[in-house]
Amino acid sequence: MPKVKYYRHQPMEGFIMLNRRSFLKVAAVTSAGLYAFPSKAFNGFEKLTILHTNDMHCHFEPFSENDAKFAGRGGMNRISAYVKQLRKIDPELLLLDCGDYFQGTPYYNFFKGEVAIKLMSEMGYDAVTIGNHEFDSGLEALKKALGFASFPVLSSNYDFSKTVMDGVTQKNLIIEKKGIRIGFYAIGIELQGLVGKTLSGATEYHNPIDIALEQEEYLRNNQQCDMIICLSHLGYKYDTPKTSDLTLAKSTHFTDVILGGHTHTFLEAPVEILNADKQSVVINQVGWAALMLGQLEFYFEQKKKTILDLSKNKRVG
Ligand SMILES: [Zn+2]
Repeated sequence: MPKVKYYRHQPMEGFIMLNRRSFLKVAAVTSAGLYAFPSKAFNGFEKLTILHTNDMHCHFEPFSENDAKFAGRGGMNRISAYVKQLRKIDPELLLLDCGDYFQGTPYYNFFKGEVAIKLMSEMGYDAVTIGNHEFDSGLEALKKALGFASFPVLSSNYDFSKTVMDGVTQKNLIIEKKGIRIGFYAIGIELQGLVGKTLSGATEYHNPIDIALEQEEYLRNNQQCDMIICLSHLGYKYDTPKTSDLTLAKSTHFTDVILGGHTHTFLEAPVEILNADKQSVVINQVGWAALMLGQLEFYFEQKKKTILDLSKNKRVG
């Protein structure tokens, strides 16, 4: 299936067409922050907006004005307000999170994960996955907090069947928006060395690449998804042989997008990597502490043979 992808890297630099390795500037942006792609180019196209976060770490409010690095910036409240605005324009957008919403501020120490999950439910997340910090108060506490979730929690490679978390998560998810069938799976990081055995209990860990290949095959060939998205908490990149979003992307065949977390990587724009069949996979990650919101815009031809995307990361505050 041939794909053409369009990226917008910086609001003032214009739109850049990215077709494998050849770059071509196709349009200019008229004013800061406004989408100004020639409307004619999108006749017959359906737009799918994907917003995503990672490693919010209970930062409900902005950093204090005394903070040395991020004074007054960030916060889930701000992201929430921005998402609300965007939903008025596009009620069918997707909001996703890649884990580590727990731990990081006194809110976690007092309320464990409950407040984070309630706030994320209010924000209307469509799906989230589990990061290593979600285990920080043990499986009972995780289950209790997730009981307040109004969204599905995905995990394809943690096997919770011998724990109290059995049945709380699901391996994959299919959401249909604007006639586009979107398949999701989620890959978590190896717990050994990160999470104590007393906290993770009898959770079994399965190889991220094996599970990703199994899930993407199922979503594409059994479920006929038009687009496949992986919610990952593997981390963007390592200097060691440890599996990352980059190595995962290179091994896949059908995954279109990998949204990541864990390494707190601030990508200025999504990155494109070639998969095992030399087709492109879009990878994105937006730092931590709700300082940024990932904003991907894909344009689907009505015949669904072409996916285009216009993507940017939004600094919040
Ligand atoms: Zn993490």
